[in-house]
Parts: sequence; structure tokens; C-alpha cells
Amino acid sequence: MRYTDIAIIGGGLAGSTAAAMLGRAGIPAILIDPHDTYPADFRVEKLSGGVQLERFLRTGIAESVLRRATFTGENWIARFGRLLDKAPSRQFNILYDSLVNAIRDEIPEDVTRVWAKAVSVATGPERQQIVLSSGETISARLVVLANGLNVGLRHQLGIERRIISACHSISVGFDVAPAGRNSFDFPALTYFSERPGDRIPYISLFPIGPRMRANLFVYRSFDDPWLGELRRAPAATLDAALPRLKRITGAFDIQGEMKIRPVDLYENDARHQPGVVLVGDAFATSCPVAGTGCDKVFTDVERLCNVYIPHWLASDGMEADKIAAFYADPVKRACDEWSAAKAFDFRAVSTATSPYWTAQRWARFLAWSAQGLLRPLGGAFDLEPNLLGHSSSSSSSSSSSRSSSSSSSLSSSA
Ligand SMILES: Cc1cc2nc3c(=O)[nH]c(=O)nc-3n(C[C@H](O)[C@H](O)[C@H](O)COP(=O)(O)OP(=O)(O)OC[C@H]3O[C@@H](n4cnc5c(N)ncnc54)[C@H](O)[C@@H]3O)c2cc1C
Repeated sequence: MRYTDIAIIGGGLAGSTAAAMLGRAGIPAILIDPHDTYPADFRVEKLSGGVQLERFLRTGIAESVLRRATFTGENWIARFGRLLDKAPSRQFNILYDSLVNAIRDEIPEDVTRVWAKAVSVATGPERQQIVLSSGETISARLVVLANGLNVGLRHQLGIERRIISACHSISVGFDVAPAGRNSFDFPALTYFSERPGDRIPYISLFPIGPRMRANLFVYRSFDDPWLGELRRAPAATLDAALPRLKRITGAFDIQGEMKIRPVDLYENDARHQPGVVLVGDAFATSCPVAGTGCDKVFTDVERLCNVYIPHWLASDGMEADKIAAFYADPVKRACDEWSAAKAFDFRAVSTATSPYWTAQRWARFLAWSAQGLLRPLGGAFDLEPNLLGHSSSSSSSSSSSRSSSSSSSLSSSA
């Protein structure tokens, strides 16, 4: 049996960030995950906007991780085949496995890593026991459950899951390449839906190294035949849904495998559980359209590792009352509520046909157009941060900052 203060189950974005932070704080911790290298997985592919980056910076590991990303300093905004704005942006584009593996590189040597699956957990107000697929047992004062969407251990612990919205949205990830020329004109692009009936909030195009990635979002059920069409004939189906997109992008080919991921919105209620705390997707999921999942992960982990764990370890026991303070944390709650509200607002503004939401859609279109017109005059205002899934930050844009390695953009943003 191995003994530690903190056993982290799950080495994805949340668990690896927690391991890096606890290790740097000198708190004894063990990280448990089945994979010694995080495998390819379609999840978040860009970190962006002042608020999200600020949250990442608070973990203390962001700078070196973001240096591995492709930076984009300008994002074009378009709708109805019209370019509305060339907005300054701070987007750090990186595939999920590269992001998690970069975070794992920040975990100090004295954090033990165990590459196995946790198969059972027994919790109580004093010590917790975890049995691994290797047969080994770990005893810890606290379990940080960061195992993402995997429900097995939560069932075992009797943690109740509340589904807020089943198949709230579907994310589609693929590569695109310009046809008949070497590069696209835009550094990055957000193209909004043309008709609410298409149930597409937007498609986002952004570079990762030499590749141009596309993240397309749709509000449909997972058995909708439209998704089958998209798989069978991706170019024609996309063309039919967004017929004027190519006026901005020019002709392009869809390359490689298309990944299609539905997302349920849910929250787990673990407030009455001693000895275990849930973070990231293990606690609650978010809608990728709103782009708030990483805000929630970084907020959870930062509050937990900077505030609660040091405080909890300073006294005996790990009762449920002690842990409930984390779920009631005002910063965490504000972030969770903001993320949930955005998930529903985005869906309504993209698909609802009531007079209120139709007016909202047009108001946003006009605001983007006005912002784009005012920008060359130096009078552009900033639209609501994260309205686009990223913030139009106040950092200035220049052709040299449009798309580059991330080093210079980091030093100015940190
Ligand atoms: C398609 C898609 C697009 C997204 N886009 C965005 C976006 O644009 N912006 C944004 O902010 N967020 C986005 N998100 C959300 C974001 O990706 C997630 O919130 C975030 O990745 C959650 O990280 P996590 O560490 O909680 O979970 P995960 O990364 O899933 O990590 C869970 C870990 O637990 C491990 N594990 C599971 N079971 C066990 C076990 N029994 N024992 C040990 N280990 C175990 C797994 O191997 C894995 O390593 C998106 C999500 C999806 C699905």
C-alpha cells in the first residue's frame, strides 16, 4: 500500500493541472491515469480570451504550456458571406493531447505518477482507499476525482448525476486546406450561422502549426440524419448549410478524419461525500459552443489547490462539511453559473425564432458590423467578452501578431 496526502484520479486537463500545482506547493500527491502519454482526443483545441487566459495564468503553469501553442492575434468575424470585423484576439491553438501532455511536463518529479486505472474507491472522514487495475492499493487523506466523463467510480460512490440538457450540442472537428493555393487569407475566422433553421451557431477556423483546424458546432440530436450526411458527403453538406462561407474562405478541401462529439450538460452532487472532491468535467460539463469548459477546469483547480487543500490538510479529518466549502466557493459558483447561462443563451440566440431572440441576433450582427466599421478609425468598442467563444481583448493587432509562435504574445499578455 502506498500512502499520500492527495490521490488525484484522472490525468486530463484538470487532474494534470492539479498535480502540477500541488507538486509545486510541496504537497504530497499521487496522479493516477491509465495512459503515461495522453492520447489523441477531440476536446478543446484553443484557449482564448482575456478571462480564460487570466484563469489559466492563476494556476502558475500557463506560460510555459502556452508557448507550445500556435498564437493568433487577429480573428475575422463573418456572417451572411460578409466580413464584419477583423478583431484583435489572443487565441492559443493547441490539440488537446498536446495541451495535456505539456501540462504533465510541468508536474514536479516528486509527484508520483501511477499509470493504471482506479477500479474502486472507498471513502470516509479520515482516509480513503483506492484499488488500481494493477492490484496496487493507495491510501490518501483526500481523493481528487478528475476522471472526466467516466461515470463508473461516481456510481460506486453513490454520487448523483443531474442531467441539465441531454445532447445540448454536437461538436465536429476536422482539418481544412485551401484549394488551388498555398494559404488562407484570414489568420483565424469565426463564421456565424446564416439561418436559425440550420441549427449551427458558428464554425471556427484556426491554425495549429501548419494545419488549419475547423470546429463546427450544431444543435441537433445525435441520431439526426444530417450528421450521417455530413460524414458521407462533408463538403456538400457543409456547403448547403453555410452556402456563403466560401466567399470569405475561398475554396477549400476537407482533410482527414471528421470527429463528431455530442455533449450532455450535467452536474454531480457530491456535497455529502467525505474524503472526495470532484473537479472539471467530473463535477459538471459545459457546452463547447460557449467555450467555457477550461474556465471551469482552471477555476476549480485553482481554488482547490491554492485555497482549500492547504486549509483542509492543516486540520485532522476530511469530513463532508469541510469539502462542501469548495462547492460553495463564490468564485467557483459564479464561474459555473456563468458557464451554464452561456450554454443556453448561445443556443437560443442561434436557433430561437421568437421576436426577442430574432432581435438579439440582429442586434449582435449590427454591433459586429459597427465594431468592424469603427475599428480602422480607432474607435472600435469591445463586444461582450466571450460572446464569440473568445474575448476581443484590448491587445493591439498588427500583421506580425496575426499568427505566430506564442512567445512574444505571452510576454505581453502575462
Ligand atoms: C468536442 C469538445 C470541444 C470542446 N471545446 C472547448 C472549447 O473550445 N473551450 C473550452 O473551454 N472547453 C471546451 N471543451 C471542454 C473541455 O475540453 C473539457 O471541459 C476539459 O477537457 C475537461 O477536462 P477534465 O480533465 O475534466 O477531463 P478529461 O480531460 O476527460 O480527463 C479525464 C481523465 O481521467 C482519466 N480517467 C478516467 N477514468 C479513470 C479511472 N478510472 N482511473 C484513472 N483515470 C481515469 C482519463 O484517462 C483522462 O485522462 C470541449 C469539450 C469537447 C468534448
